Amino acid sequence: MMESTGNAAIFEQARARIARPFGHFINGLWEAGSGEPIAVVNPATEQPIGSIAAGGEAEVDRAVAAARQRFESAEWTRMPAAERERLLLRLADLVERDHDELAAIETLDNGMPFAPARMMAVGSAISAIRYNAGWARRMTGEEAPVSVPGRWHGYTSREPLGVAALIVPWNAPFAITCNKVSAALAAGCTVVLKPAELAPMSGLRLAELVQEAGFPDGCLNVVTGLGAQAGAALVRHPGVDKISFTGSTATGQSILRETAGRLTRVSLELGGKSAVLVFPDADLEKAIPAVAMGIFGNSGQVCAAGSRLFLHDSVFDRFVTGLVDFAEKLMVGPGDQPGVALGPLISAGQKERVMGYIAAGKAEGAQIATGGSAPDEPGYFVKPTIFVDTRPDMRIVREEIFGPVLSVMRFSDDNLENLARQANDSIYGLSAYVWTRDLSTAHAMARYLRAGSVKVNGSGMEFALPFGGFKQSGIGRENGREGVEAFTEKKSVMIGW
Ligand code: NAD
Repeated sequence: MMESTGNAAIFEQARARIARPFGHFINGLWEAGSGEPIAVVNPATEQPIGSIAAGGEAEVDRAVAAARQRFESAEWTRMPAAERERLLLRLADLVERDHDELAAIETLDNGMPFAPARMMAVGSAISAIRYNAGWARRMTGEEAPVSVPGRWHGYTSREPLGVAALIVPWNAPFAITCNKVSAALAAGCTVVLKPAELAPMSGLRLAELVQEAGFPDGCLNVVTGLGAQAGAALVRHPGVDKISFTGSTATGQSILRETAGRLTRVSLELGGKSAVLVFPDADLEKAIPAVAMGIFGNSGQVCAAGSRLFLHDSVFDRFVTGLVDFAEKLMVGPGDQPGVALGPLISAGQKERVMGYIAAGKAEGAQIATGGSAPDEPGYFVKPTIFVDTRPDMRIVREEIFGPVLSVMRFSDDNLENLARQANDSIYGLSAYVWTRDLSTAHAMARYLRAGSVKVNGSGMEFALPFGGFKQSGIGRENGREGVEAFTEKKSVMIGW
């Protein structure tokens, strides 16, 4: 390994922390798994870094029982909201204490380079926990103007839903896990977490930090394993009151089908095929790197990645040249090496899927402006790829690739509604990005685009604003007040005098 000297020690520490066969974390204790463990592989080297237990119904059952018992315990039900807030703030401090080690774990486990792992994965996890902690004491109901004042007092209250099952994907595991866990605990739920089998390590470490922060045993339980076994058992479990799922649209649909009979409360954060629109008056110097990192960052394994780029005719050539230059300068390699901007994809399967889309793009007649290949070396790397001459009916334009592949389209129509119609031509509606200096174009596009988030002249996550999808990008919202309210049920109370 060619780690910089400064980081070598931290990677050593991270490796030592995760190089063990992990079991399940139930009721404050590590339980040895039964059956064959699942090897966890560093996607940059294809070498194992540890293993997790393959959980199923029995483990899920014990974890849900532990969460239920804690949820109903006097210690938890009588705990003041201010104390939940304090414990969450303590947890954020512990994550901050271990900032570098957690980032290194994320690099080894998920492949993302160390710098973005520090900033985005762990930095945003700390922000999420602190943000959600603040809601613990602010989850209030309201007084209702009842029809006969003086005879009745009517008000609403917010109550925690109960046992929350949190099912997490592998693409940004630590940030997503911390956001869900802190929102659920802030609301007063107890949790069973199912990390992604491909990148479970930072979630397992989080369980220890939650315990160290002083949360009572059983508040956070972790069952690891395959989606079809551990995940499905959790979804089927009648003791689960709320499912908060982030992952693919196909799995989200199966969760809705599975829970329909019990009407389990479900939030789904699913896939995307987000549009980016660049107008002639855009600040190209800012837009080019931002648009490039909006699709190539985390090797395109980002739900809100801007994967369909609509360029105005008048800036098309300059923009594509700028993007190609930028992409070709990005160093692709193992995330623990200095200067690396793009790490590998998560797995051999994901690499094959992405290379399959690149082949489909070529076969359907799109032209490659750069990339399109995978380096012939260990690790699941794919070069940042830009397709031009694309058509709206091509698979690379319609389907979520979840890799570093950008499809570029040209527009010349100045009718903003027509343009928005093209951008909205997708089963997804997670995010949209607009680059313009014109205020009325910005406002009009913000209105016309059918996406859960519209960002003008920038990108990035803002915890104060709800995040979620229109259409098949999901149901419900994370972040903002809604993110914590999603773990509560509203109750109306009427008291007669
Ligand atoms: P996935 O659906 O395959 O897996 C996600 C999680 O669900 C994993 O923990 C997996 O083990 C579990 N799972 C799989 N099958 C299950 C089943 N039948 N029942 C219960 N759990 C099951 O998704 P992935 O490949 O890990 O993640 C990539 C997808 O996640 C992409 O589509 C991406 O767009 C989406 N994503 C969305 C957001 C968002 O906020 N909208 C954020 C990140 C990722």
